[in-house]
Amino acid sequence: MKLQKIMLDGGFSCPNRDGRVGQGGCTFCLCESFNPAYCRRHSTITEQMEAGKKFFEGKYPRMQYLAYFQAYSSTYAPLEVLRRRYDEALAVEDVVGLVVATRPDCIDDDVLALLVSIRERGYSVAIELGCETFHDRTLARVNRGHTSRQSVEAIRLCHKYGLPVTVHLMFGLPGEDRDDILAEADILNALPVASLKIHQLQILRGTRMAREWEERKEDFLSFTLDTYAQLVADFVQRLRGGIRIERFASSAPKDMLISPRFGVKQSVVEARIRALMDKS
Ligand code: SF4
Repeated sequence: MKLQKIMLDGGFSCPNRDGRVGQGGCTFCLCESFNPAYCRRHSTITEQMEAGKKFFEGKYPRMQYLAYFQAYSSTYAPLEVLRRRYDEALAVEDVVGLVVATRPDCIDDDVLALLVSIRERGYSVAIELGCETFHDRTLARVNRGHTSRQSVEAIRLCHKYGLPVTVHLMFGLPGEDRDDILAEADILNALPVASLKIHQLQILRGTRMAREWEERKEDFLSFTLDTYAQLVADFVQRLRGGIRIERFASSAPKDMLISPRFGVKQSVVEARIRALMDKS
């Protein structure tokens, strides 16, 4: 039985866009880059789930699905709204669980109690936390609107409720060098993290980050496929055992991406990283 995630846009907002903690969002954020073609904000959750199932139809003989609330901050709404959206996804045939992506400052006891209650109904539930970096000077520079302390507290709180956490990290944020990035492995090693999704910073057209990159390229690591692969391999080797790597790199649509352009498929990037890890 193959378990396939279906990406959903739950119609949520983000406290770093609506003014609760900030306006204008993180400087690297381009919301249009969040969603695959089958996932449209104006469609209902059920429609998105059915479109996603159709998209993956026939890929494997037998499939079950996880509803992956990926866009924006998917725990950022009144509890009743969250409950309705999650339940709508879970009511779709062959959906066996939820993955909820959110920000560290959008996690609290009430949200976690709701997710635990869903798990107690027999569904699998996991949380993805966009920490991006554990360096506060970088978080401030990219207008992230939360601190590393909030990330650490959110990870610990999820763990207290028995919910597995996948941390998102971004490599190559302005002002960070290789050593800064590698040092984050030590921070993660001390935290109850189940898995990790690593992304290279992608400079996307139309973002404030694109302007900053044009003006101060010297503040950014300029990755080639090889330097990025080596960094990720070194980072993963520094991690304690037991942290699963779910993703080694990301790929924005070509027409949105300014840099870095590796010029190869994501599977090739991943293969290069794995080869380096196997070698050492
Ligand atoms: S928290 Fe997420 S949705 Fe909000 S501005 Fe940052 S990247 Fe965009």
